[in-house]
Amino acid sequence: MERQRATRKSTRFKMIPLVLIAIVVVGLILSGQLTKQGSGLSPALGGGKDEGAVHVSSDDENDESLTGNDKFKIMIDAGHGGKDPGAEGHSGTFEKVSNLGIARKLYDILRNDPSVEVRMTRNDDTFVKLEDRSAMANDWHADVFVSIHGNSYEDDSVTGHETFYRYDNGLPLAESIHDKLVDEMGFKDRGIRLNELKVLTLSQMPSVLIETGYLSNPAEEATLLSDEGQTRMAQAIADGLKAYAENIGRK
Ligand code: ZN
Repeated sequence: MERQRATRKSTRFKMIPLVLIAIVVVGLILSGQLTKQGSGLSPALGGGKDEGAVHVSSDDENDESLTGNDKFKIMIDAGHGGKDPGAEGHSGTFEKVSNLGIARKLYDILRNDPSVEVRMTRNDDTFVKLEDRSAMANDWHADVFVSIHGNSYEDDSVTGHETFYRYDNGLPLAESIHDKLVDEMGFKDRGIRLNELKVLTLSQMPSVLIETGYLSNPAEEATLLSDEGQTRMAQAIADGLKAYAENIGRK
């Protein structure tokens, strides 16, 4: 579970970029460059896929990284840790343990892929603040942020995967990973939903938070705690990441 919510402060002033773009366009016309370039406008002038030709923001930097030839940078975030145990499982275990187990296995799978660069927000049982997790991904200019969690509920018959995203650019990533989880794990499909979770709100790249399963359900807890179950879960997430990278032309 990840309960904290936040809203990113919008500091985009739409009029200033409009005026700047107008000045640049007029300048290009005067210099005769616009007719030579045809439709080959630069991203800042509306050639980018971002519908907003009226703003220039860090999103545009991310768009550029998606078309580059550099490695696909994946930040893996094992939820909770240290003094923050997360959800409690049926047998009294804690979410932070299974999250880290899956995250480490995912790291090991991905680091063998030469087209990928991978980092973790934590790789042991330490407490890391939510804003620091997002900052690590932002500072590194990660291409995607994948947060791994587990759920619990008072009714121990409740089961299944759930995948959250915050902004539209996270939805294709959520779909790729969620589809593989459902196909490869055989847990119940609880769906993909928009959720204003703090780590997703603060992360500037396509970001998802995966509720891998219900630790309060004895069978899912056993899977989430077992080496074999964690490996299958990590492989499903890796397969989803690979499918996503292929879909956006990064593989
Ligand atoms: Zn959690």
